[in-house]
Amino acid sequence: MTRISLLGIPHDDNSSFFKGPAQAPAHIRPELFSDAYSMWSETGFDLTDRLVDHGDIGFDSATDPWDLIEGEVGRVLELGDPLICLGGDHAISWPILRAVRRRHPSLTILHIDAHPDMYDAYQGNPRSHTSPFARIMEQRLADRLIQVGLRTVNDHHRDQFKRFGVEVIEAARFGDDLRLDLKTPVYISMDLDGLDPAFAPGVSHREPGGLTTRQVISLIQSVNQPIVAADIVELNPPRDIANLTATVAAKLLKEIAGMMVKTRL
Ligand code: MN
Ligand code: MN
Repeated sequence: MTRISLLGIPHDDNSSFFKGPAQAPAHIRPELFSDAYSMWSETGFDLTDRLVDHGDIGFDSATDPWDLIEGEVGRVLELGDPLICLGGDHAISWPILRAVRRRHPSLTILHIDAHPDMYDAYQGNPRSHTSPFARIMEQRLADRLIQVGLRTVNDHHRDQFKRFGVEVIEAARFGDDLRLDLKTPVYISMDLDGLDPAFAPGVSHREPGGLTTRQVISLIQSVNQPIVAADIVELNPPRDIANLTATVAAKLLKEIAGMMVKTRL
């Protein structure tokens, strides 16, 4: 039976505006494991005994957090099961991918977000949550980067897209008939602000005009290559309403996990 590893990464030191995403794993888990909800994925898998929770990474001042994340993600990946990381802000995708890439010499990132997160530098912090995909592409931690749902693109971003060969489907051009031509194992990077704030208000940077929950689930369910790892990031619990966004995060987690099982069969 295919199992799915979960790992909490409660880290938001590199958020540029609001802090809060470090609290996210503690808000997603109760929604994920609540008896109020089904543990079946829409794709037909009972996840009850499949999800293996490895707890949260414990950060301390003595260790570089990026080394800690890379090391802990690598340790969990050694089990050989697909992994879903719970952020944390989006900065954590860089050290996660350093570990994932070592196991996956061919890899496509499917990145759902309102923002490109590709600033060459932002407020002088190369680890900013506005920059992880610049670092990821500079270090060639993926062969392809496909970004979906963007609606904050500026001229600098367009230069970066060209520089790194990024494939971009902006929210304005998103259609329900979108079919990705995937050829390698896939990493899903799910920034919850890719959803419209009507569906996911509990984020640091609400950007109207985004995807519906249904559209994101359908996109995830359209992946026809193995999903080897994923992150769900940028839930900001103090900005959430009645834990609604945490519930959406738990739902997306179950659908990603369901597709991880399905694509391994
Ligand atoms: Mn992001
Ligand atoms: Mn974002």
